[in-house]
Amino acid sequence: MDSRGQGGARGAVGSARWSPAERVRAMGTSVFTEMTELARSTGAVNLGQGVPELDSPAALLEDVARAVLAGSNQYPPAVGAPALREAVAAHQLRRYGLDYRPQGEVLVTTGATEALAATLLALCDPGDEVIAFDPCYDAYAADARLAGARLVGVPLALDGDAFVLDADALRAAVTPRTRVLLLNTPHNPTGKVFTADELEAVAAVCRDHALIAVTDEVYEHLVYDDGARHLPLAALPGMRERTLVISSAGKTFNVTGWKIGWVCGPAALVGAVGAAKQFLTYASGTPYQEALARALGSVEEWAAGLRSTLRRNRDLLGEGLAQAGLRPFHADAGYFVQADVRPWGHGDGVRFCRELPARAGVVAIPTAAFYVGADAPTWLVRFSFCKREDSLRTAVKQLVAAAP
Ligand code: PMP
Ligand code: GLN
Repeated sequence: MDSRGQGGARGAVGSARWSPAERVRAMGTSVFTEMTELARSTGAVNLGQGVPELDSPAALLEDVARAVLAGSNQYPPAVGAPALREAVAAHQLRRYGLDYRPQGEVLVTTGATEALAATLLALCDPGDEVIAFDPCYDAYAADARLAGARLVGVPLALDGDAFVLDADALRAAVTPRTRVLLLNTPHNPTGKVFTADELEAVAAVCRDHALIAVTDEVYEHLVYDDGARHLPLAALPGMRERTLVISSAGKTFNVTGWKIGWVCGPAALVGAVGAAKQFLTYASGTPYQEALARALGSVEEWAAGLRSTLRRNRDLLGEGLAQAGLRPFHADAGYFVQADVRPWGHGDGVRFCRELPARAGVVAIPTAAFYVGADAPTWLVRFSFCKREDSLRTAVKQLVAAAP
């Protein structure tokens, strides 16, 4: 269950002698693959992987179908369809006052996943260090490793049920090898939205140490509480020129299988990312890119409805977990609620998650799987609420019935 777990075995394939390359040896099967397979094989409700069970805008689906039938089925430009680059630039200006030129400062990628990989490949040399906040999305450590770099996890401090920035720990983690600070807000797995003060502290470290910032903002439209507001780090003074902003359509429109993402930033940085990206996929998803260009133009209307569904789901799941005797944490944003599983007599979230399908017919993911460093709270478990209401109600009913 360690997504950064054991690598492949040495051995022979046919007559070939081989062993996995060093860079993949530490990569096991992703925790998401493992837990989704567990849900499939046991028939349990899958609250593990953040894969939405929710609808997408009908007009968006129709636009894709029309684009396919109209023949938009060949490679798009490697930098992305012009209409989507223009829509992304307009979105950044309209929402955040960030002004990017569609030509040169916006690059379309195969999901945020490719954007992250291409970015670290473009920015890091072997031996370099990338700082991220622990816990963090599992691709970060893997991508750093593909680039020959090392991900350094700076733990977010636990304050009650809130995860907060420890600015001293961040400053202490910077070394002469640090190249990149990778910030994910709104945050997976915790649902944290970095506050304006926290962002200012992060920006100050980037400015003081001449770091490039990379921001993963894939949950930018999914903030539920009035007190929390998504603010891109790039919008802070002195940050636009040193920040690559990454986002994608998957979470915003419930189309995670389409894998359309994008990167915005200064032309020199975006150009370097594009150089790596063209040899990963070159380009992908022509009909999706065209349809998403239109959908992004009116995303605010759609996202307001999606937020109210997800807010209701979050509350339903949180209340259900509490009813089952677990201790749910508050999530301001995103797809996930963490719960302290110690009230069920478990200090070990990994064991809890292994036993949960048989015990309650539910799959969840131990939050420890998202930690790079050694300071993981082993008793925390992540439950996803981007599901249909009936899935959540079934899960809650089964959890309550299985409670000790
Ligand atoms: N970053 C974070 C924080 C995520 O949760 C995800 C979820 N899949 C991704 C990146 C990947 O996004 P995409 O599906 O667009 O590749
Ligand atoms: N982002 C999703 C999660 O955190 C799924 C990502 C994946 O399956 N690679 O669950």
